[in-house]
Amino acid sequence: MSNLSSEIAAGDASVPSESELLSIAAAHLMQNYRQPPMVLQRAQGAEMWDTQGRRYIDLCAGVAVSALGHNHPAIAQVLARQASFIHGSNYFFNVENILCARDLCQRARMDRAFFCNSGTEAVEAAIKIVRRHHFNHGQTDRFEIIAFDKSFHGRTLGALAATGNAEYRQGFGPPLEGFHHVPYGDLEATSRLMGPRIAAIIVEPIQGEGGVLPAPPGFLAGLRDLTKRHGALLIADEIQTGVGRTGTFLGIEHDGVTADVVTLAKGLGGGVPIGAMLATNDVAKALTPGTHGSTFGGNPLASSVARTVLATIEREGLLAHASALGAHLTTQLSAMALEFPSVCKGARGRGLLQGLILQPAFKPRDVLGRLLEAGVLLTAAGSDVVRFTPPLVITRALLDEGLAKVRRALTTLAP
Ligand SMILES: *Cc1c(COP(=O)(O)O)cnc(C)c1O
Repeated sequence: MSNLSSEIAAGDASVPSESELLSIAAAHLMQNYRQPPMVLQRAQGAEMWDTQGRRYIDLCAGVAVSALGHNHPAIAQVLARQASFIHGSNYFFNVENILCARDLCQRARMDRAFFCNSGTEAVEAAIKIVRRHHFNHGQTDRFEIIAFDKSFHGRTLGALAATGNAEYRQGFGPPLEGFHHVPYGDLEATSRLMGPRIAAIIVEPIQGEGGVLPAPPGFLAGLRDLTKRHGALLIADEIQTGVGRTGTFLGIEHDGVTADVVTLAKGLGGGVPIGAMLATNDVAKALTPGTHGSTFGGNPLASSVARTVLATIEREGLLAHASALGAHLTTQLSAMALEFPSVCKGARGRGLLQGLILQPAFKPRDVLGRLLEAGVLLTAAGSDVVRFTPPLVITRALLDEGLAKVRRALTTLAP
């Protein structure tokens, strides 16, 4: 245990008991999530502990967020250093934000960055920039956006309109106008919608929330081609796939495709909230002074942490690590699916974003409960997938220990 963790552990006496915490949560937290009855308290690397001292192997990294695991010394150090200058506002430049923009554009091979605080905000910015781009070119009717069934782009009203899941929109009034949804992977259906009203196509290189669905071969290149031919823009939503998750910095790199606009968040801050919308010089021109903004966006704290995440990925060779460990994960999950055919149908994904697909008789929520009991933290995706998004820094030994626990849990489920 590190010094920091032991200090936190030493404060345990002042923390209410697990059952007290759970009843406070039941009384005072909005009930829009469905947490299991335990309370996480501390974490180190890819391991976490709850208030009862139970240990878990973290194979979800807070949904692909804690890319460097927990309590990484580089993050701890930069957080402490930057505590003296957390916020400056966008009325003034700050050193860390300028350097963060440079570092991020370099990695993503884009020109300019807008910073915000979450994925959904990055998507909002993307929707606004593509619409404004065409508006500035005199194409005031070109504001429609094509998105895909089962896509996830966020929960604010604009991003929600892009999200390809009607259930998420239910009861929230009329959705934002101008969005079309077609089946993911269907170039034909997309092509039929293209025309002078289509401002952009927004796509995830691997649909994360939708069930860890990788784009079929040629799909992203096909979308790139369609947008070019019809004067529309391509938005790559890399909020889940970006920052090394699939073994390359951006997920679209696997397909040799470049986008006009890229959204990032999740792993970018290693746990500290930050989002970014990147664009080419041409598209970036649309955001002139006064057209968009964010009070917290680009603050030196989040910027310095994001820079540290980028530098650490490079220094520790985490792209190659995610790629190699991802191949190992694919082999292991496929073997598990073969071993327990009554529980799982197969596995899919890329790098350290992978899913174990369940048979219809098994609901992810029930399986996750068993996995938790076995001591592994995982999340569900779509209606039938257990999603694996471990920290990029996880060692092979710890991943294998986690997978052994998964296997044990599957043994208890198999009839
Ligand atoms: C998580 C996610 C979002 C939304 O990000 P938030 O930070 O939760 O707002 C958008 N798009 C994709 C692809 C995501 O995975």
